[in-house]
Amino acid sequence: MIELRNVSKWYGSFQVLTDCSTSIQKGEVVVICGPSGSGKSTLIKTINALEPFQQGEIIVDGVHLHDPKTNLPQLRARVGMVFQHFELFPHLNVQENLTLAQMKVLGRTADEANAHGLKYLDRVGLLAQKDKFPGQLSGGQQQRVAIARALSMDPIVMLFDEPTSALDPEMVGEVLDVMVKLAQEGMTMCCVTHEMGFARKVSHRVIFMDQGRIVEDCSKAEFFDRPEERSPRAKEFLSKIL
Ligand code: ADP
Ligand code: MG
Repeated sequence: MIELRNVSKWYGSFQVLTDCSTSIQKGEVVVICGPSGSGKSTLIKTINALEPFQQGEIIVDGVHLHDPKTNLPQLRARVGMVFQHFELFPHLNVQENLTLAQMKVLGRTADEANAHGLKYLDRVGLLAQKDKFPGQLSGGQQQRVAIARALSMDPIVMLFDEPTSALDPEMVGEVLDVMVKLAQEGMTMCCVTHEMGFARKVSHRVIFMDQGRIVEDCSKAEFFDRPEERSPRAKEFLSKIL
């Protein structure tokens, strides 16, 4: 579904990604972790073509991102992305948040978009909140709306960038529950998160990044159960979060 081949990226003279290679299969759930500043957000933004890269190749569902002929907006429409800070439109109510991109980008009619959006709103348990504005919802509810909004676009893969790290602790569980359900339904997911409970429960693979490099790319079992085989940097990280 996703393939990265020797991807490198610079911000000016600062190299933020160095020679990153990995692939994510359909239905796979991959957790990306690593210290702050290691390039996790940058890596998933390149997958969604929100950030350009200067070397290497990224292929998403057969579409070559490095090919100048690729229609990037069309690709982005097929990749769901959920950020740390929800990024709902504050001046639109929940229902409007859910339907806007479906109509504008996918060309759905208002009726189609509403039916689709409300189906996913129901799936995240928030149908009753459809007329509220984001500011009237808790952080956990806003993030669930953001997930429903991304799902309404029928994405081929969902990318999450620390979706629970801006939330009050009591709201983390409700968002993780939605993500666990999605994973169990077979959605292809790539999640930057430090929620190791989530990683242990549903991930297939763990990628550990440090200083712009993919230092570990291994099965969940290898990552958690055989820490002695991990790199010193990953061991140190694991010792702090487990
Ligand atoms: P992470 O998500 O792992 O915390 P990021 O991908 O956000 O890391 O950032 C990786 C590095 O790139 C950091 O050193 C950060 O300061 C730098 N960086 C991120 N965005 C930019 C930018 N737009 N311009 C310059 N440097 C950036
Ligand atoms: Mg980040």
